[in-house]
Amino acid sequence: MLSCRDITALISKGLDKKLSVSQRLAIGFHLMLCTHCRNFQNQSQFLRKAAHRYTEQLQKRLDKKS
Ligand SMILES: [Zn+2]
Repeated sequence: MLSCRDITALISKGLDKKLSVSQRLAIGFHLMLCTHCRNFQNQSQFLRKAAHRYTEQLQKRLDKKS
């Protein structure tokens, strides 16, 4: 059984890289039992989407200028 620290590290890693099936299963299983890590995942995904939107808009603005 992985600790919360391991799981949050895997979640962060999974935002940028593809995780193996066993890693994703470990996360999924842990998230069923652990609210803390579930919140962490929701927040990281939200922040990632927000950051993505922000860079997209910034890019559009830069494209207009050039
Ligand atoms: Zn946890």
